[in-house]
Amino acid sequence: MPLTVALIVAAGRGLRFGGPLPKQYRLLAGVPVLRRSALAYLGHPGIDAVRIVIDPAARELYDAAVGALGLPEPLAGGADRQESVRLGLEALAREAPAPDRVLIHDAARPLVDAATIAGVIAALDDAPGAIAAVPLADTLKRATASGGDRPAVAGTVDRGGLWRAQTPQGFRFQPILHAHRAAAGAALTDDAAVAEAAGLPVRLVPSSEENFKVTTEADLARAEALLAAAAESRTGTGFDVHRFGPGDHVVLCGVRIPHDHGLLGHSDADVGLHAITDALLGAIGAGDIGRHFPPSDPQWRGAASDVFLAHAAGLIAARGGRIVHVDVTLIAERPKIGPHRDAMVDRIAEILAVPTDRVSVKATTTEGLGFTGRREGIAAQAAATVTLPQARPA
Ligand code: MG
Repeated sequence: MPLTVALIVAAGRGLRFGGPLPKQYRLLAGVPVLRRSALAYLGHPGIDAVRIVIDPAARELYDAAVGALGLPEPLAGGADRQESVRLGLEALAREAPAPDRVLIHDAARPLVDAATIAGVIAALDDAPGAIAAVPLADTLKRATASGGDRPAVAGTVDRGGLWRAQTPQGFRFQPILHAHRAAAGAALTDDAAVAEAAGLPVRLVPSSEENFKVTTEADLARAEALLAAAAESRTGTGFDVHRFGPGDHVVLCGVRIPHDHGLLGHSDADVGLHAITDALLGAIGAGDIGRHFPPSDPQWRGAASDVFLAHAAGLIAARGGRIVHVDVTLIAERPKIGPHRDAMVDRIAEILAVPTDRVSVKATTTEGLGFTGRREGIAAQAAATVTLPQARPA
């Protein structure tokens, strides 16, 4: 099998956004644009390695965006996109083994789908170059040079056979490396143009309108809307029990309540927050609270359980997810929950950073039956609903 490397170009300084943060490092539904682009390739079966070209001055932003993904060292880019790609290719050429194929991708196209990546790779079986593109649907007008911001129509351009070029742009490695060397300084706008200048045949691979480049604030909003529309809903449940022991208070759903017993446990034994934490972890298939915070680890002795809950919320945010709702039922004869219910809702909403109408706290007894009825302990069960970005079909 040919060695296929994705070369993601993230060296731009994003001046068009106006703000201090380059667009590839902006958050898109809670996840950096660059991270989304990298994940699209990291998870793709046709890609053997992902390399990212960056502005070395933005190293801290890079580490924050994708540092945890275990990628090889980033490659240093140059003054403009074309130079950055060439420097990235030169760096790959010095490595052993050098790639057989390279897919060059703009970091600012975070919504690239797996089918487009697969299509470009497949087209390289028949041609030295292949690029994602969409056929032009709009009628094209040529404007007069004069007329200010409302120039006159000078003519209609035949759109027949016209496509808009996107990325990925895939190439057999040695031909595109030599083409870029030959085109150094030529100010070409994409890698296909570099290939064309070298006489390399390039195929067009139909892509999706959603694979657009995030350049403006409006683009970012459009991408957020597309992700929201494609989100899928997940539900998780959690259950927890802690036994009564000596003490003068319990902590339930983050609220300290005076009581003639305490609850035994390694942490603060907050059954309510533990059940909600497990429900959130369950909703994203991330195991349970014991996996993330082993009772054998002394650092969690007596810990306030809001740490556990905030951790689960952070995992959801890291996946671009959103907490829709959590609902917890405390099962106990004593203490009375009612007087503390509003404070519990407020505290859970605060930890999760969601509005209070997305949090529900309920209480019940077991009519004197079972361990809760005998006042041996308190149980809690919870359900959580979260939305996650839908996995894109391969
Ligand atoms: Mg527990």
